[in-house]
Formats: sequence, structure tokens, C-alpha cells
Amino acid sequence: MSDLIDVLDPSRGLLIGAERRRGGAGLFDVRDPASGRVVASVADADSADATAAVDAAAAASEGWAALAPRARSEILARAHALMLRDADDLATLIALENGKSRSDARGEVVYAAEFFRWFAEEAVRTGGDYGSSPAGGTRTIVTHRPVGVAALVTPWNFPAAMATRKIAPALAAGCTVVLKPAAETPLTAIAVVRLLVEAGVPDGVVNLVPTTDAGGVVGTWLADPRIRKISFTGSTRVGRLLLQQAADRVVNASMELGGNAPFVVTADADLDAAVDGAMIAKFRGGGQACTAANRFFVHAGVAEEFAARFGARVEALTVGPSDTGAEIGPLISAAAVARVTALVDDAVAAGARVAFSAPAPEQGWFVAPTVLTGVPADAAILDEEIFGPVAPIVTWTDEADLVRRVNATEAGLAAYVYAGDLGRALRLAERIDAGMVGVNRGLVSDPAAPFGGTKQSGLGREGARAGIEEFRETQYFSVAW
Ligand code: NAD
Repeated sequence: MSDLIDVLDPSRGLLIGAERRRGGAGLFDVRDPASGRVVASVADADSADATAAVDAAAAASEGWAALAPRARSEILARAHALMLRDADDLATLIALENGKSRSDARGEVVYAAEFFRWFAEEAVRTGGDYGSSPAGGTRTIVTHRPVGVAALVTPWNFPAAMATRKIAPALAAGCTVVLKPAAETPLTAIAVVRLLVEAGVPDGVVNLVPTTDAGGVVGTWLADPRIRKISFTGSTRVGRLLLQQAADRVVNASMELGGNAPFVVTADADLDAAVDGAMIAKFRGGGQACTAANRFFVHAGVAEEFAARFGARVEALTVGPSDTGAEIGPLISAAAVARVTALVDDAVAAGARVAFSAPAPEQGWFVAPTVLTGVPADAAILDEEIFGPVAPIVTWTDEADLVRRVNATEAGLAAYVYAGDLGRALRLAERIDAGMVGVNRGLVSDPAAPFGGTKQSGLGREGARAGIEEFRETQYFSVAW
């Protein structure tokens, strides 16, 4: 483990142009959330480092944009292969700094790598248009150009995938980037960026700036006229703040923000399939996913049976540090434990019942996987993003009322519908105001699908064809004829 970290040399964790550097603000600690133990000291960037990163990205911009799409594509394809080559080490780093289970970490590496493959394929599909004006006097040639230097800001919950989901389309589109990973999980970002260098990314095309001063670094970027794009994944609160800053210079913004996913089970659903889906939708990453099922709406006719089968699976979950092989790891911080515990306590005080739970270690930032039943409709736990392994179940009987309750939130990221009849499931899915609906599936993430939300869950899409468009601008030539 320490070998792996020594190789990364995180005290020189900034990458600016060709140079691995120390940060102007010294070092900061990264902790293992299972034990609270410090596992690495990482270079801490200041605002001057942030500007130096933009200098490097701006200097590399013209050359990268001019490179043949096939050449950019081949670099991304190599990055995909290198991530898979190093999948074990990357999974170890993710599990260490994020705390998620070994199998979740391994799954994340494969998912993250796939963005490099997908956008390697998209990089060469440049497209365009050629047409005549209605009066015939001109021809219009429509083309696309890279939006410019892009600032990428990522959260701790998917330290590899949230970075590759932005870097890959940006590079495919011909943009150079400056990346700020979350301070909780900078090691994975350092490792991924190293692989990009090994894959042949030219100096300055990808620059990495770990920091504890997120506001200072990102604020410096958004005030810099050379930054033309902000792509952010994180909380709705910070997303709003960055949109306000982006407004000052009318910076192109993509926002992947918080969710509050409903998980709907109809009376005719296959309950075993629904329970399988619920386990994935709720417990992947210990519930710390923006797409995590947050509110379970189960038809009253099957609610008891669903809760019993789901509860039996939850009680059997193993909770502990990832290196013990446990299925559920710790939360990211002591503050996260306090927040989730308070939501559960509040629901119980209002009349909810802890119907099922699994034992969790006392030491470390663990929360017991829990199923709550009888949750009052106005409980905060149904309204807020839980971001932990707790599943509140409420019941429904009337479909119109169900749809009203499901949509009564400012979040619109993911949703899940389990119904026996596919037509019925789709009709219900169409009425849900969310960017992504799992239909008889507990997982929606797919590099080939346009990931993103409605309402305050965000702006824009990542992955699919749409992902590259976020980093391109349309230009046309009006040609005298
Ligand atoms: P967060 O908003 O606190 O942090 C996200 C990133 O923003 C981090 O890099 C952080 O350092 C940075 N940041 C924090 N304050 C900032 C500021 N003032 N200025 C600039 N940058 C700042 O979110 P988090 O706690 O790391 O992540 C959890 C949140 O992310 C949840 O709400 C989750 O739903 C959301 N999320 C969304 C998606 C999605 O695709 N929609 C994916 C993963 C996570």
C-alpha cells in the first residue's frame, strides 16, 4: 500500500505542464475513512498554482486542438488500456481514500476506464453540415470547435469516474483542462493523470491541482478570461455558487448536482428483482452516490413482503474496512456520519421504525445499513439527499398521488421503477421528472447513455454523444456564392 503511494509521490501531486510540483500552500493529509488514519500527505495548491495551471493549459491549447482527431483518439484508447492494466492498484487507492468496498472500487475503475474508450470512439466523429441559404445566394458550412480551456471540478464519491467522465470528452473535443479533485480523494486523480501522461497526452493538456482551498482555486479559474468552460460534479449548493461566478464572465457551464431518487415498486412487480435492484440502487458505494435510491415508494399491497425480503438482505450485509472484504465501507467523514445519524434519529422521533439493520463497527466512520418503515410523509429524510446506507420505505395506493409525491422535490437526477408490465413501467417512468429512470433496473450509469438531471440536479449531460457536445461550440462559415 505505502509502495503504491510512494510511487505517486503525492507531495509533488500538482501536475502543471510537464512538471510535478509541490503546492504553494504546503501539504494536506488524506485519511482512510475506515480508521481515520493519515495515509498520505499531498501537495496543497494556492491561487498562484491555479493560474500557473491555466498558463500551461492555454499554452497547450492550440496544438492539442490542431492534432488530428485520430491521434487524440489513440491517446484516449491507450489511457483506457492502461487503466485496465492498473485496475487492481487503482481499486486499492479508491478503496483506501474513499472507503468503498473492494468490489465497488473495482467496478468504478472499469466504469471510469470506459469513458476513455467511449470518447476515443467519439473523438473521430466530428460531424458538420453544408447547406444553401433559402434564396440561394450563400452557402453555410457548419463546423464545431473546442470550447477552450476547461476547468473540471470533481467530488470524492467516485474519485476515478467523475474525473474520466470529464477529461475524456474534453480531450476528445480538443480542449485542454485544469482539474481540481476533491481534497478527500486526490490520490486516485494523481494516479489517473499519470496514466494519461504515460498514454501520450502532451505536456499542458491535462493539469492537476489538488488543494484544500477549493473556493480560492476555482474562483481564480472562473475569474481568468482564458477559462471558457466549467464542468462541475458535486452538491447543488456549490453548483449554484459556481453558476453565479460563471455568470460574471458568461462561462459555459455543465453541472452534475445532487439527487433525491425515488424507487417505485408497483403491486405487480417481480419482488425478487425489485429487491436485487434496491440493493444496488441503495447500497453501491455505501449509499454515497448521487443516483442512490433515496425514497422507496412501495405499493401498499406488497409493502410488507417487499420490506421483509429487502430487510433480510440488508441484515446480511457485512460492514467494515474494504481490506476485510466487507460489502459496505465507512462514510467519507465524521460529519457525514453525524448528518446521516441525525436524519435517522429525526425520522424515528417522528414515528418511523428501524425495521431492519446490519451490525456496523464502532470505530471508524461507519453507519449501520438500515431499513426504516412507517416514515411520516414530512420527514426530512424523504426530502434531503441521505448519502448513506439508509432506506426509508413509504407506501402508496393511488398512482396520480404517487406521481405527485415522487415529483415533489427540487431534485430530478435519477429514479427507479419496478413494475411487472413493461408498458406500465414506461408510462410511469415518463411521468417522473428526472433525467434518468432505471426501468426494472437498479443501475442507470452507462458511458454510452447521457447522464444528467433536471431541475436543481443540474445542467447538461455527460457520457454518450451529448458528453462531447458539452466541450464544443458551433461555428459556421457563411460563404458568398
Ligand atoms: P461538494 O459540492 O462539497 O464538493 C464537490 C467539489 O466541489 C469538490 O471538489 C470540492 O472541493 C469542491 N468545492 C467545494 N466548495 C467549493 C467552492 N466554494 N468553490 C469551488 N469548489 C468547491 O460535494 P461532495 O460532498 O464532494 O459530493 C457529494 C455531492 O455530489 C452530492 O450532492 C452528490 O449528489 C453530488 N454528486 C453528483 C453527481 C452527478 O453526476 N450528478 C455525481 C457524484 C456526486
